[in-house]
Amino acid sequence: MSFHSKFRNILLLSSLVPLLASAVAEQNGNQKRQVAEAEFTYWLHETCMGRIEDSVAEAIEMASRAAARLQDGEDTLAARYYELLYKAPRQLSGDPNDPIMQDELDITNTLQIISQATSVDEREEANVRFYCDNDGTPGATGARWQKVPDNMSLPARYRNSRRQDNIEWQDVVNHIRAELTFETCGGGMQGHTEGFKHQPRSNENDWPNEAEMRFVITICNLQLNAGTDRPNYARIADLPDANFAALPDHMDAFGAVTSMVILHELSHAIKREDHVYFWSPSTRLSREKAVYNADSMAFFGVLSKLADLQWRISDVPADAAVGILVRDFSLVPPNPRKLSAGELPKRNSGCVGNKAMVHGEDCRVFDRKEIGA
Ligand SMILES: [Zn+2]
Repeated sequence: MSFHSKFRNILLLSSLVPLLASAVAEQNGNQKRQVAEAEFTYWLHETCMGRIEDSVAEAIEMASRAAARLQDGEDTLAARYYELLYKAPRQLSGDPNDPIMQDELDITNTLQIISQATSVDEREEANVRFYCDNDGTPGATGARWQKVPDNMSLPARYRNSRRQDNIEWQDVVNHIRAELTFETCGGGMQGHTEGFKHQPRSNENDWPNEAEMRFVITICNLQLNAGTDRPNYARIADLPDANFAALPDHMDAFGAVTSMVILHELSHAIKREDHVYFWSPSTRLSREKAVYNADSMAFFGVLSKLADLQWRISDVPADAAVGILVRDFSLVPPNPRKLSAGELPKRNSGCVGNKAMVHGEDCRVFDRKEIGA
């Protein structure tokens, strides 16, 4: 069975996350320090309720584990993955003016920001708003997505209502304007992220309660298996058999898992773009592009979680190039006593009762209640 499917996600890169990071750096009084604390909040629309909470939790957990592994000098597997995906040796510390070190700090910061994401009840407060409405029917009365009104200062033939393609759209609920390349759910799209940068406040009275930094992420029906016979995998542990060596698409199989899609989309809120999709292309990117590639970050997160489950990429270069996974019982699952509160998974991901679906081992190590025991 193949559940290979194409990502076709749209990104709206924004300059607002650097704002977030620099604000925190200023609080620290040191521009070069890593961001240790950053507000990063998300909100679920009612169409996502009961559908993606576990996936969001696993995406956040993957970011947390990736950040922890990346900063662990004893984690040689993370160092290997970092070099494979980011084309530079992991340094851990170094001259903050060195572009290679800056990239490593940027990746660490981004993973940390995602790992500290917290849910809020008020949509307008949230930096990221998740919708599972398949984008509704853009343009319909009352729909979230509407055409951008015509700019009457343009000659009539250039106005939005006259365009055949490159029509401009805006999310009128969240006050977010899409790029010219905006495409809604459909075709092969699993999810897309749009950022606010093209609809800034024109004055301070515009949407006074809206978060300055805001993104809307739509998780499409293709990913949520609504109205299709495609299997839906909310989390890594939900993949059939959990025999990752047998996945027909190897690492690309995780593109069918909602948690990886969510991590990919969340990374768009923090400067990541879509240079390439899929495993092999991601491993062939230049360092400069890999650093800002959404799938590279999502794969790094998935690999960090897989290592917790005692799976890793093959050592054979030709196999690693296509993302073949192998079992490795020498990998040590995370010790809950070593995890700080911010690194704790929010749920017993992969566990049913006390049993891990993946390898049948006792799952209590992931339980918060074990901490400090
Ligand atoms: Zn994307």
